[in-house]
Amino acid sequence: MWQAEVRVDLDAIRENVSRLRAGTTAELMAVVKGDGYGHGMVPAARAALAAGADWLGVCTLDEALALRAAGLDAPVLAWLLAPGLPLHTGVVAGVDLGVASLSQLDEAVEAGRRAERPARIHLKIDTGLARGGATVADWPALLDAAAKAQSDGPVEVVGVWSHFVYADLPGHPTTDRQLAVFHEGLAMVERAGLRPRYRHLANSAATLTRPDTHFDLVRPGLAVYGLSPVPGERYGLRPAMTARARVMLTKRVPAGAGVSYGHTYTTERDATLAVVPLGYADGVPRHASNTGPVQLGGVRRTISGRVCMDQFVLDCGDDPVAAGDVVTLFGDGSDGGPTADDWAEAADTINYEIVTRFGSTRVPRVYD
Ligand code: PLP
Repeated sequence: MWQAEVRVDLDAIRENVSRLRAGTTAELMAVVKGDGYGHGMVPAARAALAAGADWLGVCTLDEALALRAAGLDAPVLAWLLAPGLPLHTGVVAGVDLGVASLSQLDEAVEAGRRAERPARIHLKIDTGLARGGATVADWPALLDAAAKAQSDGPVEVVGVWSHFVYADLPGHPTTDRQLAVFHEGLAMVERAGLRPRYRHLANSAATLTRPDTHFDLVRPGLAVYGLSPVPGERYGLRPAMTARARVMLTKRVPAGAGVSYGHTYTTERDATLAVVPLGYADGVPRHASNTGPVQLGGVRRTISGRVCMDQFVLDCGDDPVAAGDVVTLFGDGSDGGPTADDWAEAADTINYEIVTRFGSTRVPRVYD
């Protein structure tokens, strides 16, 4: 008997990757950072590779090494690398490294020397996100240094890449501007004498809506897990994660009963309350107090009162709910139940955050 669980449908991940695969002639990097957006990094990676993903994308060196430790030998790119990490371990493990500054390049050079094999690097240009990535002003110096390091031997420039600001708003002019900057950056790469095999730019939204940004490799994350980056559009994707719990306790309370911390909800009539053993320690956003949607007994309901660390309460009126009944927080929506998108709206956040939060370790993850 289970109390609460996150179910991950690996078939859905495989289907989503096949669909993305069919929509591009580029290679496909399944982004599995953040513990596979809460779905479990290694199982998600295996499912994605089985369905035709060519690459895996992660942020940290540790994530990349964990993929290798699990026996996955597909190409892996890690792109969020603070100074002073043992990058040579990544090079030895065949992990490609994102490089966005001269000091990161120096570290990659050092890692290549230590590993006694070239560090495979992907140079990142900032085309407008103002996050990771070398600014256009710093780009020529980085390219020249990378070209020299490559001819000296300790690095191999495998890729050039960038990341979008607004691809989730199809038609936003910034996307075209970023694409133009990327093309300028590529021309400079060529002038520096570099011929990287991979030029890559497209996240899920661009993979789905902008084939002109696919270049040699696309990097979808969210869509792999069946969620749409564009609100209101589904693109035929199937959400892979379902979060549910069993009612722990029911009780009758009179009209006017204040519910949960702060009594932010009061019963209007005599009512049956159902207590659900999931809270913000498990990923339920506290921001979804009095707004979070669930399905119980075939009926959609809204959380009553504050979400606590470990539990929340539902006012079920006179409905015949009982301890042990299953409460679905979100799933693929096929039975009319709420989705991660509904939760994102209820908690004033994005679906990325909802599924990533539910990857917490206290709730067992079960794979279908
Ligand atoms: N590429 C980079 C650099 C990212 O940081 C991410 C995720 O944020 C992705 C690709 C995948 O983005 P998405 O999940 O929107 O497809």
